[in-house]
Amino acid sequence: MKNESIPEPSEAAAPAKHFIRQIIEDDLRAGKNGGRVVTRFPPEPNGYLHIGHAKAICIDFGMALEHGGECHLRMDDTNPTKEEVEYIESIQEDVRWLGFDWGKHFYFASDYFGRMFDCCAELIRKGKAYVCGLTQDEWSKTYRGAPPAAGQPSPYRDRPAEESLRLFEEMRAGKHADGALCVRAKIDMASPNLHLRDPVLYRILHAGHPHTGNTWCVYPTYDFAHPLEDAFEGITHSLCTLEFEVHRPLYDWVIDNLDNLPSRPRQYEFARLNLTYTVMSKRRLLELVNEGRVRGWDDPRMPTIGGLRRRGYTPEAIRAFVEAVGVTKFESLSDVALLEHCVRDDLNKRAARRLAVLNPRRVVIENASEIPAEVDAVNNPEDKSAGTRKVPFSSELFVEADDFMENPPPKYFRLTPGGSVRIRYAGFLTCLRVEGDAVVCRWSPPEAALKVKGTIHWVSAKHAVPAEVRLYDRLFSVEDPMAKAAAEGKDYHEFLNPDSLKTATGFVEPGLAAANPLERFQFERLGYFCVDPDSKAGRLVFNRAVTLKDTWAKVAAKA
Ligand code: ATP
Ligand code: MG
Repeated sequence: MKNESIPEPSEAAAPAKHFIRQIIEDDLRAGKNGGRVVTRFPPEPNGYLHIGHAKAICIDFGMALEHGGECHLRMDDTNPTKEEVEYIESIQEDVRWLGFDWGKHFYFASDYFGRMFDCCAELIRKGKAYVCGLTQDEWSKTYRGAPPAAGQPSPYRDRPAEESLRLFEEMRAGKHADGALCVRAKIDMASPNLHLRDPVLYRILHAGHPHTGNTWCVYPTYDFAHPLEDAFEGITHSLCTLEFEVHRPLYDWVIDNLDNLPSRPRQYEFARLNLTYTVMSKRRLLELVNEGRVRGWDDPRMPTIGGLRRRGYTPEAIRAFVEAVGVTKFESLSDVALLEHCVRDDLNKRAARRLAVLNPRRVVIENASEIPAEVDAVNNPEDKSAGTRKVPFSSELFVEADDFMENPPPKYFRLTPGGSVRIRYAGFLTCLRVEGDAVVCRWSPPEAALKVKGTIHWVSAKHAVPAEVRLYDRLFSVEDPMAKAAAEGKDYHEFLNPDSLKTATGFVEPGLAAANPLERFQFERLGYFCVDPDSKAGRLVFNRAVTLKDTWAKVAAKA
């Protein structure tokens, strides 16, 4: 099921030659499409984009970028009822954030309704489409049939073209009720592919459209509209997910049966991205939001691009993940541990290190007169140019509660009565005794070179700033909640992880009070964290993007 390998730096340098890259390069070599590569990303603006869409975006924009082409951002708004401006804006924001640019090529499918109407009329005129009076139930159930048996032709199939044309105009003029008539392509009622059994091209819907208002009461179906949108825009490679593979013969039929289309697009399909421990359809995600299971569409537990951004994931990490998953024609379930691995790998390079204590235990230093007022701390050992900073030190520290044990088990190398431990950037502590809630220690400078086996982190209790720290775990407690729900006849909600969010009140080094929303840090020994947009002066809020423990690296090392 899980088919990814760990991304190697070499792969990042020379991306894998997946089949779509191969097709595009072959086409370029053969001089097809006048040497142009034009792709498009066509979201339906009826929800927020998720990491599955990120895969499509990386492929659509990425293939154009790699081959000197262009990628259009097209709102696929042929369905009038449920689109919202909020979604259109968030889609643009997400695509930009992922690092892609559509330039001047931002389109609405609804802008083409006039031309689409004319194309449909052309098919009718040529005897390749007709106005059908069967109800949806009749044509889709009784007449269409089920392979291997042939379907039955509609009694309206041989209606003269002039009569169909007149009815189509009447449909547009609002003279017929929803569902009373529709336009169907005349293809093959015996085809083993149901999509070729006289599919519907146009239907009546007396509904206002967010973009075209009340101009139209007839709307094209997806199967008719999509190839036309691609042809009108001069798309060369129309890349989509595998569920559209069975629609491709109809896509080609539409293109091949119309004259004077400006271009001849071709559709290629790749496998959708599915991710463990989550659900990935806009409908389900919206459900979780509406039911209050999460705090909103950009809740950091959500697989939405907005959620991942708020959690502290980077566009670079998401792009590396998509590249590592690869582009194939096999449906598979990708391990979220691989995504987390990509996030760690990227944040390791770019995130500044800071000190924070999430579950504080008070340490009091007895030889207070000997201690420094501040220490130098390295900002990022992976990036020398990040330099160092001063961190205030004092005779009262917080350390992590589990970094001290009065009765330690064997091989416990942290702070214990009578024992010593190194404290990050600031020498050593030797525990003298416990007094109430305080661990009383003696401090020794870094030069003391005590023989110790552990290093712990700390903050100065006098200077540290309190912060709300949100610790996230997987949203669902099983790998594939939808599949498991289906297999066991259960509701997928049953598999929601009740512990997906835990909140701690921690203490962070004072410099973090000035951090900006969405700024990312490594809290040493604790993981990568990101400033939540809820954070304000006096109320710092951090989200944990990912822990430091890389389960994926372990799996990959064993393999
Ligand atoms: P959902 O099923 O989540 O509601 P959708 O397919 O209806 O998504 P669209 O807005 O129609 O969403 O999709 C825009 C583009 O994104 C399409 O080309 C679609 O193939 C692609 N896409 C959607 N989901 C995925 C996914 N999980 N993996 C890869 N590509 C996807
Ligand atoms: Mg869709």
